[in-house]
Amino acid sequence: MIYKVIAKPEFEKFIDALVKANLSYGPQQVDTDKDGNPIYQFKEVKAVGDIAFDYTATASSAKHFLTPYRETLSHFTFANGDWEQDISYDSKPLVLIGLRPCDISAINILDDVLLNEHFPSPYYLARRKNTFIIGMDHLPLPDCFCKSLNHHTVTTGFNLFCSDIGDKYYLSINSSKAYNYLKEFDIADPTDEDDCKLIDRRKLIKQSFKTDVEVTGLPSFLDIEFDSPIWTKWGDKCLNCGTCAMVCPTCYCYNMEDRPDIDLKGSSRQKQLYSCNLVDFAEVAGGHNFRPKNGDRLKYRYYHHYLGFAENDNQPICVGCNRCGRACLADINPKDVINDLRMEKESCMICVSPSPDKT
Ligand code: SF4
Ligand code: SF4
Repeated sequence: MIYKVIAKPEFEKFIDALVKANLSYGPQQVDTDKDGNPIYQFKEVKAVGDIAFDYTATASSAKHFLTPYRETLSHFTFANGDWEQDISYDSKPLVLIGLRPCDISAINILDDVLLNEHFPSPYYLARRKNTFIIGMDHLPLPDCFCKSLNHHTVTTGFNLFCSDIGDKYYLSINSSKAYNYLKEFDIADPTDEDDCKLIDRRKLIKQSFKTDVEVTGLPSFLDIEFDSPIWTKWGDKCLNCGTCAMVCPTCYCYNMEDRPDIDLKGSSRQKQLYSCNLVDFAEVAGGHNFRPKNGDRLKYRYYHHYLGFAENDNQPICVGCNRCGRACLADINPKDVINDLRMEKESCMICVSPSPDKT
């Protein structure tokens, strides 16, 4: 890693040159919510002025640039009683600007699943290696809980990371490509004062979190709570809409479909992001459904995020962005569900604790 600083006007020149030369996406305000708060999404940007550097969080995550909602894996052509399969791993070079630390952590988790396992996805690899990531720090929203999961800072997974230290950005340069772009601009080595400002900035971010989720020992705790009535309580509220998985930066479960061409001379094999909260997610041949109840499906999502993945990969799959909680029309969010489970267990322990010794 190389550390440099750049004055904000020079940084804007750098970003402007970058986005004018490359297909680039950055945060833009697209609407306001019912309370008048801005809603941001990653949109194509053509000049530095298109980017909302002061954005809070985007409603959808950046995962869709790497694992799209729907993608064609192959196309079959039928002719003369035979068939041919056409597979393409092409992807265009892409610049993603302004990703938050937890969003970059989420991409690192997707890398673990889709690149670093036994069967790496060539489709994901083609996109990932063609994606240039610029991260930016930010003050958390009141409901962000990425600090509880240690994802409020990030040290890998980006080309360049920018920390706001007042009139400059403190740059963590993590690739030769980023350094080669930047050396054309007026960058400097950080002074002692810049280092102190970076430390102050990190302290401020850390102290600004208002939401904490207790995740210590969560995998074994969830294991014990398999039959808890809490799953039915929250499951009964769930609308089975799947929105939580769509906005989640780490949900990667999918469905496969063969879609014949309208002239029946060919067919596409397509992969589509799916959600374990959808009613038919665990349905198999014959109509049998392994998770027919709302509570079973909701529990499965929590088990995948905080138990199964944590046991296999030593970390939960959740990065604490709370996109799922903000998007859920039924007001279901990880903090409330996990706290509810803990409270239920704690009240149960009060009931079984022995009476104090009588003297
Ligand atoms: S967004 Fe909320 S209501 Fe919809 S599936 Fe997820 S938990 Fe259920
Ligand atoms: S808070 Fe919700 S949306 Fe964010 S990573 Fe965790 S499960 Fe996914």
